[in-house]
Amino acid sequence: MKLFLNNKDTIDFNEQYDHWIFDLDNTIYDFNLGLFARVSSRMTEYIKDFFDLNEVDALTLQRNMYKKYGLTLRGLMIEKKIDPEPFLEFVHDVDFSELDEDIKLKTLLGKIKGKKSIYTNATFKHAKNILKSMGIFEEFEIIFDIKDANYIAKPDLNSYLMMKKKLGLNDSNISKSIFFEDTAKNLKPASELGMSTAWIENDFNRKEADIFREYINFTGSDIKSILSNMLKFEKR
Ligand SMILES: [Mg+2]
Repeated sequence: MKLFLNNKDTIDFNEQYDHWIFDLDNTIYDFNLGLFARVSSRMTEYIKDFFDLNEVDALTLQRNMYKKYGLTLRGLMIEKKIDPEPFLEFVHDVDFSELDEDIKLKTLLGKIKGKKSIYTNATFKHAKNILKSMGIFEEFEIIFDIKDANYIAKPDLNSYLMMKKKLGLNDSNISKSIFFEDTAKNLKPASELGMSTAWIENDFNRKEADIFREYINFTGSDIKSILSNMLKFEKR
């Protein structure tokens, strides 16, 4: 794991990477905004109503499905045969009003010369809502969402293989790609496929990041600090 503690690096990251791939929730926007926590509590609410459970049992089912399948929805589809569409529609219906236009992030993304994509376990609609609110929707060429992945979520390798295909990555160009994520375990398959990886530090994932540290190439406190460190070393 490489920390950006001093500015002695002289790598031209724009030369190093042609494909810049970003997770969405808690990566593109600040973890501390708690937006994803709101999506998560909408999931609990949906499960409660749908299966007629109390809060505790609904939360237990949600957590078990997440642990077992990496995505609550995936577990509910396999074990409880639920229809994904109404579930996704309901859980992503959250208020994004504190997401402001992010000029600094937009400027940083604008400095990237390669292709930029989003790779998310959420839906295209959710990604679009968030990216539009932040004023950066147009920065991304491809948004690879959970439907593109046939509801198979990161960190399942099959999800990455579908993403790879859609983004035009193959054995000859994958080493020129970099993937940014807050969920440390999602970096392992990416790294094993030959991508470089960057972990967005957060306390929720710190222990896991330690377990998966061999699969993490770069780290920083948030997406903007990582990008500004990477993009300051332009070739003169
Ligand atoms: Mg995330």
